[in-house]
Amino acid sequence: MTHAVLTALGLTGQESGTYLGHGEWSATRDAGVIEPVNPSNGEVLGKVYASSQADYDLILERAQAAFKVWRTTPAPKRGEAIRLCAEALRRHKDALGSLVALEMGKSKPEGDGEVQEMIDIGEFAVGLSRQLYGLTMHSERPGHRMYEQYHPLGIVGIISAFNFPVAVWAWNSFVAGVCGDVCIWKPSPKTPLSAIASMKICNEALRAGGFPDIFFLFNDAGSDLAAHFVDDKRIPLISFTGSTKVGRHVGERVARRMGRSLLELGGNNAIIVDPTADLKLAIPAIAFGAVGTAGQRCTTTRRLFVHESIYADVLAKLVAAYKQVEKKIGDPTDPANLMGPLNSADAVDAYLDAIAKAKASGGKVETGGARIDRPGNFVLPAIVTGLKNSDEIVQHETFAPILYVMPYSDLEDAIAMQNDVPQGLSSAIFTQNLKAAEAFLAASGSDCGIANVNIGTSGAEIGGAFGGEKETGGGRESGSDAWKVYMRRQTNTINYSDALPLAQGIKFDL
Ligand code: NAD
Repeated sequence: MTHAVLTALGLTGQESGTYLGHGEWSATRDAGVIEPVNPSNGEVLGKVYASSQADYDLILERAQAAFKVWRTTPAPKRGEAIRLCAEALRRHKDALGSLVALEMGKSKPEGDGEVQEMIDIGEFAVGLSRQLYGLTMHSERPGHRMYEQYHPLGIVGIISAFNFPVAVWAWNSFVAGVCGDVCIWKPSPKTPLSAIASMKICNEALRAGGFPDIFFLFNDAGSDLAAHFVDDKRIPLISFTGSTKVGRHVGERVARRMGRSLLELGGNNAIIVDPTADLKLAIPAIAFGAVGTAGQRCTTTRRLFVHESIYADVLAKLVAAYKQVEKKIGDPTDPANLMGPLNSADAVDAYLDAIAKAKASGGKVETGGARIDRPGNFVLPAIVTGLKNSDEIVQHETFAPILYVMPYSDLEDAIAMQNDVPQGLSSAIFTQNLKAAEAFLAASGSDCGIANVNIGTSGAEIGGAFGGEKETGGGRESGSDAWKVYMRRQTNTINYSDALPLAQGIKFDL
């Protein structure tokens, strides 16, 4: 299976982790080796040779040169380049989706879905390339015209997390690409092969279409090069996706050099189920939100607030749904399975540790809560009751399938609890009551970057701006006007009169 998937993507399993541009992959072999592991059976999937300082320096030099050309290429022409990338990804969707499933451990439909997101954002970016609009405004001075325009920003640095090993890169680089930027990517050391495959697909499509290199890649065996990357003044924007702990550090370092950062960090997402909720929608949405991707999505549902009048019923239905999921945990490349493994042994330890802490705080494990005795990093998804929203473990994002279920009696209290965590990414309410839905979406409602009605917390569409508030970092990427972060904004005033009136009516007679 692994061999066939790698071969279909033009990989041998012994890969350079550095794309230098000019069609060249680095020959460096002495800067460390990364060995990604299939989390469902411990198989080493290949060897990736990490990048050296010299590789990094050459990438920066070439990216700077590439930017000078790319920024003057008309935006719709840049869109044409991204269209070729999206088309090439469509041709490789099955194989790349399988590699994502093998390396990250998500199910095959979710791996394919991630590649579909790359294709979708590519097509979005093509349309966007003709819509990078600025405003015009009326000048207060006679004979003057004022408008604003958006120019390409420069080199965009992308640091990504293991759980969305390819889509996050596409969200950033395809939009940045039509904005006239060139991108340098440092992927997660847990998923370098998916990154290399994506780069090969897109760069070969660009070269075949006669376009210059705009996407570069380096892999870091430790985090020294990544730290250097974050501090590099030649990179005006660092887009970081990952944990709040590392993201806080990255944000501080970039701010110190007055750079721009786009932070997409951890979530602690909740669903409220009110007494009118249609449980035919709510139960599968909660189960998918909490268990899908084995709880390793930033938008995974981690807390559930259920009205006390239906609490026992909802809990029983959820436990029954989890028992169904338990029968479909296994090899993520088998499309029959609903849940794969956790990505690493460390993640299993973090899961077991959280369960122990939950119990120590008085929590009751209603289902799951244990490792599955088989090779790989498999655990049973857990539902925990009996804790308060303010309990330390509930306030914390454990990147695993643990759902804390809590009753409420008053909607205002439920919304207050949903907001009362450090993170602010995704949130949802299940209700058929218009007033409850509007209260949830109002200024005094959910404080998250994403707030849904009768849809769960996970599985965002690319058309909207994606991101969250508070410790989730405040960044927005993907659709809507998220493109603006990849451009520099300029206000222009043109005087076509014979006089020189000053703004605010100031007189300065010489
Ligand atoms: P992580 O923070 O451990 O790693 C993220 C990236 O940072 C990796 O590429 C890693 O190599 C790099 N890194 C580590 N130390 C660094 C340093 N000193 N300087 C620069 N880069 C460094 O996160 P992870 O375990 O890969 O991913 C899981 C986390 O990501 C979860 O918290 C999840 O919620 C979050 N996430 C958020 C979003 C979002 O859009 N909000 C999306 C996906 C994942």
